[in-house]
Amino acid sequence: MGDCIFCKIVDGSAPADIVHRDERVTAFRDLHPAAPTHILIVPNRHIHSVNALETADAEIVGHMLVIAKELAAKENLSDGFRLVTNTGPQAGQTVFHMHLHLLGGRQLRAMG
Ligand code: 5GP
Ligand code: ZN
Repeated sequence: MGDCIFCKIVDGSAPADIVHRDERVTAFRDLHPAAPTHILIVPNRHIHSVNALETADAEIVGHMLVIAKELAAKENLSDGFRLVTNTGPQAGQTVFHMHLHLLGGRQLRAMG
């Protein structure tokens, strides 16, 4: 996806504060953090959103969750953290390359 900012971060052609990279996923700090820890975990391969997932993607989605847990531990979020995946405009998805928000480091309010 030539014009996708997260594809550019994954391939290194756009800058980001990368905190984890492996053959399947990349994680980097959000440009506009909503909490002391705000990390985005993305599949290296462009997936538009949760709605574009196929059965064969189950492994990579599971891997994203395991990496989220490991990053939460590295960020010392032992009191808790939140994982969010906005899907579609009404949920507030603004970047259409699927991503998991890892939020923590302050008391998070109930969602609505
Ligand atoms: P969404 O609104 O799609 O759930 O989340 C997109 C997130 O990506 C937002 O929190 C936004 O701050 C972040 N973001 C957008 N563009 C960039 C960028 O170029 N670099 C980084 N690090 N984060 C970005
Ligand atoms: Zn992309």
